[in-house]
Amino acid sequence: MESDKRARVEAWLRYGADLELGPYYRDRVSSSPVVDTNQAVVAPLVEPPQPPIAAAVRAAGASSSFGLSPTTPVAAAPARPSAVAPFAQAPSLFETSDRIAGDTFQLIRETIGDCTRCKLHKARTNIVFGVGSMKAELVFVGEGPGHDEDIKGEPFVGRAGKLLTQMIEAMGLRREDVYICNVVKCRPPENRLPEKDEITTCSPFLFRQIDVIRPKVICCLGSCASQTLLQTTQGISRFRGEWFDFRGSKLIATYHPAYLLRNPNAKGEVWKDLQKVMTVLGLQPKRK
Ligand code: URA
Repeated sequence: MESDKRARVEAWLRYGADLELGPYYRDRVSSSPVVDTNQAVVAPLVEPPQPPIAAAVRAAGASSSFGLSPTTPVAAAPARPSAVAPFAQAPSLFETSDRIAGDTFQLIRETIGDCTRCKLHKARTNIVFGVGSMKAELVFVGEGPGHDEDIKGEPFVGRAGKLLTQMIEAMGLRREDVYICNVVKCRPPENRLPEKDEITTCSPFLFRQIDVIRPKVICCLGSCASQTLLQTTQGISRFRGEWFDFRGSKLIATYHPAYLLRNPNAKGEVWKDLQKVMTVLGLQPKRK
C-alpha cells in the first residue's frame, strides 16, 4: 500500500483502538470470555455499577490534577465489565525465575547493541532505551518512540511526553524520580502501532529493564504497553485502573497521554488511576 494511504489506514485503526472498537466487533462474534495465552483473562465478571467518575474523582481531589480544572467536564463511567482478574486474585502472569542473575542496564544496552533484529531499525535515528532512576519505585511504560523521541534518543519528550511530565509532577514526583521506557525501542514509521513481531523481538529487553529495577509499581500507558505486559488482547477500558501482578511488581494500566491530548475529558479517569498509584507509594499530590 502507498505510504500515505497506509498512514491514513493506520490513523483510523489507532482511532478505532482508542474507541475500543476492536473488542466491540470481537464481542459481537462471540459472547464467551476471551482467553489468551498465559490465561491472563480469566473472568467475564460484571462489576457492580460504579458511581459516576466525576463524583468519585471530585471526592478524591481531582481538581488538583494535571490541567484539570474543577469545571472540566469529566465523563460519567458506564459500569465496566471486569474482564481481567483483579490483582489480589490474579495468579502471577510471568514466572520470576527466568530473571537473569546480575543483570544491569549496561549489559542490556550492550546486548541491544546497534540492533537490526527487526525492521524498525531501518528508519530509526536513535535507539530509545529509557530514562530515569534505576532505583525508581515507579516505572511508566509507553508504546514506542515518536518523532521527537527518535531524534533525541529519550522517551516521552514530545507533546505527549510533556503531558506525562505534568502527570508525574502532579503526583508530587519529578521525571528523574521515576523510570520511563517503551515496549519497542525504535520509532515505528509514521507513528504506526508497533507490530506483533516487533513487540515480540523487543519486549524481552523491557522485561529485563523491569527486572533490574524491581519497581513497586508499573504504570502501563495505553493499550500497547498494557496488552503486552498482561498478555491480553482485551481493550484497555475493560481493565484500566485495576491492579495486577507482574513479576513481583504491582501493575496498573491507564490511558496513554496521547489519547488524553485527543480526549481531555478522560483526564479525570487517569488522575483517579494515578491516585491509586500514589496511595500504594505513599505520595501526596503536589501543592499548587
Ligand atoms: N509515545 C510513547 O508511547 N512513547 C514515547 O516515548 C513517546 C510517545
